Amino acid sequence: MSPADTMTEPEASPSGGVVDAPLLSVEHLKTQFFTSRGVVKAVDDVSFTLRAGETLGVLGESGSGKSVTALSILRLVPSPAGRIVGGRIMLDGEDILRVPDSRMRKIRGKLISMILQDPLTSLNPVFTVGDQVAESLRIHQPADGRLRERVLSLLKRVGIPDAERRLESYPHQFSGGMRQRAVGAISIASGPKLLIADEPTTSLDVTIQAQYLRLLKDLQKQSNLAILFITHDLGVAARVCDRVAVMYCGRIVEEAAVRDLFDRPAHPYTRGLIGSLPKLDRRVDRLTSIPGQPPQLYDVPPGCPFAPRCSEAMDICSRKVPPEVSLASTHRVACWLHADDESRHD
Ligand code: SF4
Repeated sequence: MSPADTMTEPEASPSGGVVDAPLLSVEHLKTQFFTSRGVVKAVDDVSFTLRAGETLGVLGESGSGKSVTALSILRLVPSPAGRIVGGRIMLDGEDILRVPDSRMRKIRGKLISMILQDPLTSLNPVFTVGDQVAESLRIHQPADGRLRERVLSLLKRVGIPDAERRLESYPHQFSGGMRQRAVGAISIASGPKLLIADEPTTSLDVTIQAQYLRLLKDLQKQSNLAILFITHDLGVAARVCDRVAVMYCGRIVEEAAVRDLFDRPAHPYTRGLIGSLPKLDRRVDRLTSIPGQPPQLYDVPPGCPFAPRCSEAMDICSRKVPPEVSLASTHRVACWLHADDESRHD
């Protein structure tokens, strides 16, 4: 049974009550691109769940499938080359791969909000910040004559000081931190339940990055938002995520609570990523890095796609796709090292 099968069931809470079902449940998702070089399995049988108020990090190198996973949830995979060819995505009780386009447009505007890379440049320089926040409110809520009041309340919620005066300011009159807050206000204007943040801090310097991550956490607390946080940066994932799913070649190779992932990484790829992080508590002459490169996605080798780079690879690794093994209720790994003898000899 896959984690998607088990994690969608209501669970008993420590107090004996029933914990809410996940807000988002991605089950055996497969998204492919049909190119002249061959079929690219960008997302290959990916399953995970996300609950309200929780942050799941999707971590991987570029080309690992993390952004295509996000685009699949939004049903915005570039066509005609790209197509979702299998799986199910349940959002707030609705099977969103099966709803008509008109319904999906509403879901994208209302239930799901997305913050793209570089939040500082996503404001339009020719409109005032107040107008831009008002526009996003107007799209999602009926006009009722209280628009200005609602814009003000949103700007205050994201911590913009002197909000009344700031309504008429243009983005260039805002500091970097305040522009981030304005983008934050726009992203929550529709009252979304799910926020997808795709590498939102990549272009920011460390101080601004820290402020932005704090803002996201504040917004999450205020609205019980579920956040899917896509990143290639393990350090950033450690700071904001409750759980992390590590992707390699379109597959989740390990998923765990963030603490367990750092304390007990089980997949050789995750260990390699953690080993390549600088350590503050000890002097190292050289950082270790993972040798080799990921394969081309139209030419993934059989078996475990990490095998050519893995120092622990065994004979079976290059022949058979590793099974998913559950190490604890919230820790799973796809690696032959953790499979039982019986399945290795099948
Ligand atoms: Fe390495 Fe084999 Fe595990 Fe793949 S399945 S990560 S090759 S040990």
